[in-house]
Amino acid sequence: MPLPRRWYQRVREAELTAREPVFRRVAVIGLGLIGGSLASAMRKYRLAGTVVGFDRKAEDAALGVELGVIDEAAESVEQAVQGSDLIVLAVPVRATRAVLEQVQPFLAEDALLTDVGSTKSSFVADVEAVFGTLPATVIPGHPIAGSEKSGIRAANPELFAHHKVILTPADSAIPSGVSRLTALWEGTGATVLTMSVAYHDEVLAATSHLPHLIAFSLVDTLAGEDENMDIFRYAAGGFRDFTRIAASDPVMWHDIFLSNRDAVLRVIDHFTQDLDQLRSAIAAGDGATLLRVFSRAKAAREHFSKMLSGQAYVTNNSDKQVTFLMQPGGSVRGDIRVPGDKSMSHRSIMLGALAEGITEVKGFLEGEDSLATLQAFRDMGVTIEGPEDGFVRIHGVGMNGLQAPRGPLYLGNSGTAMRLFAGLLAAQPFDSELSGDTSLSKRPMGRVADPLRAMGAVIDTAEGGRPPLKIRGGQHLTGIHYDMPVASAQVKSCLLLAGLYAEGVTSVTEPAPTRDHTERMLQGFGYHVHRDGATASVTGGGKLTGGAIDVPADISSAAFFLVAASIAPDSDLTLRHVGMNPTRVGVINILRQMGADIEVLEERVIGGEPVADLRVRSASLKGIDIPEDQVPLAIDEFPVLFIAAACAEGRTVLRGAEELRVKESDRIQVMADGLAALGVETTVTPDGIIIDGGQTIGGGTVESHEDHRISMSFAVASLRANGPIRINDCANVATSFPGFVELAKQTGIQISTEGVQ
Ligand code: NAP
Repeated sequence: MPLPRRWYQRVREAELTAREPVFRRVAVIGLGLIGGSLASAMRKYRLAGTVVGFDRKAEDAALGVELGVIDEAAESVEQAVQGSDLIVLAVPVRATRAVLEQVQPFLAEDALLTDVGSTKSSFVADVEAVFGTLPATVIPGHPIAGSEKSGIRAANPELFAHHKVILTPADSAIPSGVSRLTALWEGTGATVLTMSVAYHDEVLAATSHLPHLIAFSLVDTLAGEDENMDIFRYAAGGFRDFTRIAASDPVMWHDIFLSNRDAVLRVIDHFTQDLDQLRSAIAAGDGATLLRVFSRAKAAREHFSKMLSGQAYVTNNSDKQVTFLMQPGGSVRGDIRVPGDKSMSHRSIMLGALAEGITEVKGFLEGEDSLATLQAFRDMGVTIEGPEDGFVRIHGVGMNGLQAPRGPLYLGNSGTAMRLFAGLLAAQPFDSELSGDTSLSKRPMGRVADPLRAMGAVIDTAEGGRPPLKIRGGQHLTGIHYDMPVASAQVKSCLLLAGLYAEGVTSVTEPAPTRDHTERMLQGFGYHVHRDGATASVTGGGKLTGGAIDVPADISSAAFFLVAASIAPDSDLTLRHVGMNPTRVGVINILRQMGADIEVLEERVIGGEPVADLRVRSASLKGIDIPEDQVPLAIDEFPVLFIAAACAEGRTVLRGAEELRVKESDRIQVMADGLAALGVETTVTPDGIIIDGGQTIGGGTVESHEDHRISMSFAVASLRANGPIRINDCANVATSFPGFVELAKQTGIQISTEGVQ
């Protein structure tokens, strides 16, 4: 249970009022909304020994003392500034230069000077005009908080709490000054960011100044229309929300536009151009352009909502705490479809975008990684509707229809996406940059960049071949033959995708079989892929044709339920539309060899991929020596297969699975530790594990080490346990298998959760 905000507030107040003031004496010049609010916050949270206020209206300063906003009212700027170790200018932007002229003669050498103005280049220009230079003790600032009210009566010590404050110190600014000012603003409850003056003005021009200009202009235009009374009388909620900011102080805004002229003009020009484009699209009846712009904007807005609610676009689940609480026993019954395959979800968007015509995707996995891929194509001008309940409609632009994105393409945590995009973008006519989250930014991309360079691509990486990848457009690619040193489906797919654009034939030979979803889906889109033993090749210059894709359910997700229904007594479960790609079915082969009762029904091929329904019933499993040729085909499914082995009669031995030790966790050790916590002894070997089945599975607490597959495997184990099991750190499950908890409950697994989601 999160603690109530009130509680945090009380802790903050107690902490803040107990400490030493950050400044001895602060002079606030201009006691309006912002100056008054900062003064009262400094008093309330004891951030300054004494707060002195000056305003050009003496009665406002006197009122400040009366209202408890300041300690002392100064009668002149001189009186306020002398003896103060911080001076805060909180006057309107247009008054800045005149006030600086009054301050300058009395400013002590070591006193800091800051301001709260909404534009920063103009403040720096005023300082330079008055001081002849920008002193190291001057640190411009801007709180991103306010209201439509003004004047000292509107002062509120909580105005800045949970808001941002931007400081724009020059490189020459004294570091101790920046840190004291940061401490002061943080003491008011704000979060402090630092950036350059120019960047501040650009960002604010786009995010604050332009919206205000549009609101003022729109309300003014409509108020001038003949039917203005009706317009305002019937104005819907949306209009009211959208134009609320047109009620802001006209004088302050006139200041802001004049003082941030250049940045505002740039963003107005950009906006006017885009508005013109929409106008032309409407005039020409060009629905495709409207749909593309609107769906891209809708997705971007959803992205902002997430950011505004404190989540990143790609949610960092490790910040959340979720625990699975499992009751022992139960049986597993029903008819379910688990979420779509991630590899195929990514590829369906990529190929759909490059195809001619419309591609409709069903069963799309709405995980954060595949959503990032989807957004990246929207950023390159592709209209994509959805996703809604796994349904996505992609308006393909053809092999050469992508447009230059406005900024870097952000791919979240997805290594697959980054490697596949590198291949696709290497031959586009425009430059592009691929970036990702912190963990993706640590992964080496040389494995794809090197062979792509051999084809003629120009790619820059950060140190050690890591992201961001900067891809230079307009290169002519030529097909190569590549012998992969290490088996990798991602590298193979990347080169084949680049090969679609290369002159001649591009072929890749793999040292061991890897997933072949790209080859199959290319075929599904009508692009011939030649297969000769371990070599796959494509000839550049062809085209893709859009169609319908029903993304098969992910066999790796189905695996938990295959084991669950096998080990729980009296179970009978049907799993619909499961992907049966031969490179992925190891789990079925192994379970069947252990005696599982899995019936494969309705086998069919969809979009080049084999698919089937699976009916699983309880069975008495027996231990086996897992055939080594099945290991690569079931590599992700071993955690749950270990649970099957613990419930089987006799010994199960796994060898040749070193790779399991370097997955999201050391899956062999973590599973062995978890089993031991439940009283099941195993023997860990360097490349596998030995599990003697038939031991009693007890209750207890298991650490999943934030590995989603470990969490779900122990959830399955509860079906045969004799006591409750608590599984820690399960937040990541929601990313790889959205809806796992609900589906598990629906089939009879006794799961509940605890924690902050
Ligand atoms: P405000 O409520 O109008 O306060 C400004 C105060 O400064 C008024 O009391 C004004 O007195 C006084 N003043 C004007 N010229 C002066 C001078 N030459 N010497 C001394 N005092 C003088 O305005 P505010 O909203 O606090 O805005 C102050 C600054 O904060 C502006 O630079 C603005 O850009 C910035 N800011 C505002 C917001 C917001 O949402 N309001 C948000 C962030 C930053 P009079 O009443 O006699 O004019």
